[in-house]
Amino acid sequence: MHDRHPRLIVQAVDVADVMASVTFARKHDLPLAVRGGAHSVPGFGTCDGGLVLSLERMRGLRVDPEAHSVRAEGGCTWADLNHATAAFGLATTGGIVSSTGIAGLTLGGGLGFLSRRCGLSCDNLLSADLVTAEGRLLTCDENRHADLFWAIRGGGGNFGVVTSFEYRLHDVADILGGPTFYPLEAEVMRHYREWIAEAPEALGAILGITLGPPLPFLPEAWHGQPVIVVLTCWSGPADEDRAVRERLDRLGPVLGQSVQRMPYPVINTLFDELLPAGLHHYWKGCFTRELSDEAIDVHLDFGARMPCLQSATLLFPIDGACQRVAPDATAFAYRDATFATVIGPSWPEPADSEHNMAWGRAYHEALRPYSEEGGYVNFMSGDDADRVRANYRQNHDRLVEIKRRHDPTNLFRLNQNIAPS
Ligand SMILES: Cc1cc2nc3c(=O)[nH]c(=O)nc-3n(C[C@H](O)[C@H](O)[C@H](O)COP(=O)(O)OP(=O)(O)OC[C@H]3O[C@@H](n4cnc5c(N)ncnc54)[C@H](O)[C@@H]3O)c2cc1C
Repeated sequence: MHDRHPRLIVQAVDVADVMASVTFARKHDLPLAVRGGAHSVPGFGTCDGGLVLSLERMRGLRVDPEAHSVRAEGGCTWADLNHATAAFGLATTGGIVSSTGIAGLTLGGGLGFLSRRCGLSCDNLLSADLVTAEGRLLTCDENRHADLFWAIRGGGGNFGVVTSFEYRLHDVADILGGPTFYPLEAEVMRHYREWIAEAPEALGAILGITLGPPLPFLPEAWHGQPVIVVLTCWSGPADEDRAVRERLDRLGPVLGQSVQRMPYPVINTLFDELLPAGLHHYWKGCFTRELSDEAIDVHLDFGARMPCLQSATLLFPIDGACQRVAPDATAFAYRDATFATVIGPSWPEPADSEHNMAWGRAYHEALRPYSEEGGYVNFMSGDDADRVRANYRQNHDRLVEIKRRHDPTNLFRLNQNIAPS
């Protein structure tokens, strides 16, 4: 989808390589694309005629089980991090597809199955090592370079190249998880809305609207048909599993289900095969404070016309611990939102691009009256540059100020860009 031709690709192995690459790009006035897990939907991880700085070889991890923390290099994926921390019965909020990079995901905020219980990925950041536009290495945390530490918790890759992240970890061992499929009906969404509003924060249940995938536990009659799927991850006590199962049964008529106890890293690999590398994507994001009946009608309307098997709309619940962080405590501004919605057309054939993108745009337009103005930066498309201010709401001006101080020439501009002027 992004057929671009950089002049140079650096596969950094250490901080020195990163510093040299940033300095080289600045001196030679080259566009600079920074790449972690390479999951950027708008294709910000590559560029034409410039330098791609890939951190994919920087995947070292060090868990400190006593301090409940992990330091992870900037090229790690969530598979790497979950694997390392699960050995100690520990985890932090990360993405629901294991090949997504920790870097891009955390810098934009970071949503996943543990968000309601543990906050966003960026809320669990304790410190970060960052190479600035000047090519200097800084360690930032609440006390050192606190302005940068504030900005990188939601502000994306605008402020430097993060070479390592230190996260707070939580006790998370086995969880009850997996998908439950239902017909595409308003009642199911209404029941889900009620459940989330009252459920303990250890419940991470993401609602998806998609076409029934060809899974052995979903009857064939539903393959390719519009359905609702609830992706459950219950990280609370095992003796409450039954209550979670009963609640899932009451959301609506269950078409197919595979919910079982599993180690936490496994739930984040279950959907990998549905979104293999090489697909085309055009995503739109919006925050929702209240999932209204009118919004549900829009979801049903567009869900019934889902253009492709790989496409999905996902509603990530971001209440609970996410809402307990003040809206100005980090760059991530929408602390009053209950859901982060991604309208996610994904398709394999280039010839289908126009149709899929038109569906995504129209769906997003139809949801606008029932959504906040801004959305989650990591669910935005390349044509969403005019939404950057809205995405950061009251925090935008402070981000611009910090950008001016640390990257006045906008070296780090291949992102949802916070322009210095
Ligand atoms: C299949 C799939 C599943 C996803 N699931 C989730 C999910 O569950 N939760 C969620 O919150 N989001 C999810 N996302 C969105 C995801 O958060 C963004 O696509 C994110 O940008 C991916 O980060 P990356 O490092 O993999 O991507 P990259 O393409 O490598 O990087 C994206 C951008 O991040 C910045 N960046 C990357 N590395 C660095 C670095 N070391 N230092 C500074 N800046 C850097 C750059 O601006 C870069 O352009 C998903 C995306 C995909 C494609």
